Amino acid sequence: MAIQLVTTAARLRAESARLLREKGGSSQALVPTMGALHEGHAELARTAVGQNDVVVASIFVNPLQFGEAVDLERYPRTLEADLALLDAAGVDLVFAPDVDEVYPGGEPRVRISAGPMAEKWEGASRPGHFDGALTVVAKLLHYGMPGAAAGTGVPAYRAYFGQKDAQQLALVQRMVADLNFPVEIVPVPTVRSADGLALSSRNRFLSAEEREAALVLSRVLRLIEERANARQPLDLDSARALVESQPLVDLDYFEVVDPRTLEPLAENCRETPFRGEALALIAARVGPVRLIDNVPLDS
Ligand code: AMP
Repeated sequence: MAIQLVTTAARLRAESARLLREKGGSSQALVPTMGALHEGHAELARTAVGQNDVVVASIFVNPLQFGEAVDLERYPRTLEADLALLDAAGVDLVFAPDVDEVYPGGEPRVRISAGPMAEKWEGASRPGHFDGALTVVAKLLHYGMPGAAAGTGVPAYRAYFGQKDAQQLALVQRMVADLNFPVEIVPVPTVRSADGLALSSRNRFLSAEEREAALVLSRVLRLIEERANARQPLDLDSARALVESQPLVDLDYFEVVDPRTLEPLAENCRETPFRGEALALIAARVGPVRLIDNVPLDS
């Protein structure tokens, strides 16, 4: 295995600087993850490797963004397999700190406040989740930031996030813009299994029957996408009814929103073709897990 594992910020800084110098590189990337990696994460990593000289992936299950302790405890941890997947994708360095390295004094007293865009959708059922997620993303973006490499000036710095977590991506983009982080955020399209289910580390908790039922999420998103492409009324209510007819699926929300603000498009846009860009967001509980998915719409 060519990939290197580091667990402290100091080693990360030293090793990434060494790699950048050795390669005479002019760009460095960070791919933040919580581990339990699948093909969706591999796609993020490969995209980063294709666009940058040095690529760091982080693996950190962030206690700050979990509401219930049980959810944090049962989050899958598969470090050996994760390293093999990242190595195959061409990642140079893995930063896998423990909780004390990231939060040496316990939970931080100062945190990022994700603001009004975090109150709806996922934020509504997971209070504090996005404050915790943005706080750790801010820290990880700082850990992964390249220093000036000898002879190359200030390297370009990019970080890769999946469109699968659309609200998280929108919030990270806002944080970086609003707080002037010197990093380019690169979105990567959602990777799905052949039958349409968006890949997620939580899918492993679904029974065969629940997994089959969960396919209704991607199916209704495709339906809305087809209606948008054909400039037909989106008719969200009929699409919602389709989800609600599935007994194993407990729908939380299914909305069409402005991708920049995450505000729902005006009522009449749901019934008539809309103009411009939109995002269809869906979330449902299926058996033991909460699943989210989305599709970008362009009219
Ligand atoms: P996680 O480890 O679940 O926090 O995810 C780490 C990164 O991988 C996030 O930027 C996610 O949006 C991204 N990701 C997770 N699942 C997928 C997927 N199916 N397709 C693309 N990106 C994904």
